[in-house]
Amino acid sequence: MIRQLMSRTIPLFFLASLFWLLPAYSLAQELGIREVAPGVYMHQGAHEDLDDGYQGDISNIGFIIGTEGVAVIDTGGSQQVGQALLASIRKLTNLPVLYVINTHIHPDHIFGNAAFKQEQAIFIGHAKLANAMELRKDAYLRQGHDLLGEQFSGSEVIKPTLMVESSQELDIGERKLLLTAYPNAHTNTDLTVLDEKTGTLWTGDLLFIERTPSIDGDIKGWLSAIAQLQQLKGIRHAIPGHGPATQDLQGALNNQARYLNLLLSDVRNAIKQGKTMEQAMDSAAASEASHWQLFNSVNRRNVNLIYPALEWE
Ligand SMILES: [Zn+2]
Repeated sequence: MIRQLMSRTIPLFFLASLFWLLPAYSLAQELGIREVAPGVYMHQGAHEDLDDGYQGDISNIGFIIGTEGVAVIDTGGSQQVGQALLASIRKLTNLPVLYVINTHIHPDHIFGNAAFKQEQAIFIGHAKLANAMELRKDAYLRQGHDLLGEQFSGSEVIKPTLMVESSQELDIGERKLLLTAYPNAHTNTDLTVLDEKTGTLWTGDLLFIERTPSIDGDIKGWLSAIAQLQQLKGIRHAIPGHGPATQDLQGALNNQARYLNLLLSDVRNAIKQGKTMEQAMDSAAASEASHWQLFNSVNRRNVNLIYPALEWE
């Protein structure tokens, strides 16, 4: 009898112990959090456009746990999303949130900051982030209220007090994070975060996966930033601003560079051929449409942004 029981329970124990050995891609929380690498947790936002079913939860947000405290990377599009992120952190650790890092200015990444006020965290961003927030604050708050209504309540713009000019190292306890600021690219406030312990790079919106990359800075600067990211060695996981985490940073960067290079050359050619911006919107980078989500709307906005700038080249 005992022998029979043993033969049935041992394999179960064996399986259970294997489960704990599984490294990544486990753990589901209310917000849908997963452990991409040991101690590195991300929530993947939905691929929704701002004007279509927006819930304030379209970008990737997450956190890294050290032995002294937690660093949060992006906070979502509303205080509510930030609260849900904080609740996910509290299910895993009672360590203080030491830092809240914003990878750039966009509202889907920063409006959860308010949830971390009472944590007395230090807010960190690119050297130009505080000024960008000041300039866009009113428009972003108005837009948030218009899109989310009640769900936006409590959301506010919280500026960084620690600003990164070129690079900055943070220590959250037996764990060093390297922050790097970039010149004008996706926006003029792009910052990446490298967790040296696991080789995990949070790219912010310098990298889009699946969702069409949207330009709000400088397309040529973005291509330079991609070239810079391609030089990085030892990256084992990359967490983009939108889309799933990947172990193939180079492949994802290549996809994005392929789209941006084609868009750049198509818009340049359209201008040379005397085509209007409307015509360029209809035709530029059209062969990329099947590779990306939300392509038609985002690609048109991209043409709208880069066409006037390229006219003066
Ligand atoms: Zn963005």
